[in-house]
Amino acid sequence: MNTPQTLYEASCADDYDPNSMAVERARTLIGQFLSPVTATERVHIRAALGRVLAQEVVSPIAVPGNDNSAMDGWAVRFADLAAVGETALKRVGESYAGKPHAGGIGPGETVRIFTGGIMPAGSDSVVMQERATEIAGGVRIPAGALSKAGQNRRLAGEDVQKGQVVFQVGQPVRPAELGMLASLGLGEVTVYRRLRVAFFSTGDELTSIGTPLAEGAVYDSNRYTLYGMLTRLGCDIVDMGVVPDVPEKLEHAFAAAAANADVVITSGGVSVGEADFVRQLMDKLGEVLFWKIAMKPGRPLAYGKIGGAHFFGLPGNPVAVMVTFYAFVREALLVLSGRRDAGPMPLFKATLSAPIRKAPGRMEFQRGILTPDGAGGWTVRTTGDQGSGILSSMSHANCFIVLPMQTGNVAQGELVDVQLLEGLL
Ligand code: AMP
Ligand code: MG
Repeated sequence: MNTPQTLYEASCADDYDPNSMAVERARTLIGQFLSPVTATERVHIRAALGRVLAQEVVSPIAVPGNDNSAMDGWAVRFADLAAVGETALKRVGESYAGKPHAGGIGPGETVRIFTGGIMPAGSDSVVMQERATEIAGGVRIPAGALSKAGQNRRLAGEDVQKGQVVFQVGQPVRPAELGMLASLGLGEVTVYRRLRVAFFSTGDELTSIGTPLAEGAVYDSNRYTLYGMLTRLGCDIVDMGVVPDVPEKLEHAFAAAAANADVVITSGGVSVGEADFVRQLMDKLGEVLFWKIAMKPGRPLAYGKIGGAHFFGLPGNPVAVMVTFYAFVREALLVLSGRRDAGPMPLFKATLSAPIRKAPGRMEFQRGILTPDGAGGWTVRTTGDQGSGILSSMSHANCFIVLPMQTGNVAQGELVDVQLLEGLL
């Protein structure tokens, strides 16, 4: 299939049904419209934590720079060691990490060596100190202290060779990458600029924290879960507050958000009954599709472009916001930020410890509690009430239990797919 130029073209595909859209299908459709940011900046490696490399990293040096010892012991020539009995060797010097032995060793000679010490020329192996007996002027080594030449020796360049591509474009910088960059002596790297994400909540009933609640009103929590999820993903965020369900105010908010951000995320206002005027607004401002996703929670979802910005219209219910964020928005943001490893959250199998009732026809993301079963495996159960407004279920959970579309009731003892929330939340 050729890549469609517009969302409307994409939505003309045969199996497209906006009233029952499979999660996978929506993800694929969205994926066709994502291209990573291009602007880059040069930052100190500490500031690169959580960012994405925009240039490949080529090692200016070999790591380690020299053959060196993996043990405290004695640097020897393997061929010197007798196959039976003991071998006495003459000590001709010392090699410490950072303070090498000046010369090499000849036949019958040894150098006292410590972990990280450079292997003296002529030596090929290290006998660990526990296997040897120090004597005046040298050491006695029993047969069998080494099983082969090269033992306990680290080779120059065995971690990284000079000129080797260590990291490719799109590599996320995590603690391991910071250490690796430092071990190459690199103080700065080129990273993509951060994604700018604007978001607001819609709804006349929403009250911001700090204001007393009127009868029937609710505090706006979605802006805070979004703040948390976006911050964890390393985005620059623009929190635009609560926008009431008033067409002019919404229009203004959408236009301002799209002008200032790469991505616009809203919550609320896309469900049946509310979507109509948002839909009219979108026809005016951009190109946006409104879907009913075959999933629970999170049925209504809008995706499209407003000007140059990607738009995600998430449902209003607090759990649905988080579930749709992890199911659709997270991966899209990873792609847009240039991550080469962007993909869905991994699935693992766990044994269900209590039955789950489910109707076939939609994918469910139930909140689950994963615990060790005491026999090396994991069992999972739900957090209880799975209503899409029960935000406490997200706090009690450490995973989603992901039940595919066609699945019906699941019995205790069956294997189910889980997605870990640890590290995301
Ligand atoms: P909606 O999708 O706008 O029809 O909202 C669905 C439900 O989610 C309603 O009960 C709303 O009050 C609630 N809701 C919508 N937005 C928020 C928000 N930002 N914080 C908390 N609850 C919300
Ligand atoms: Mg609403």
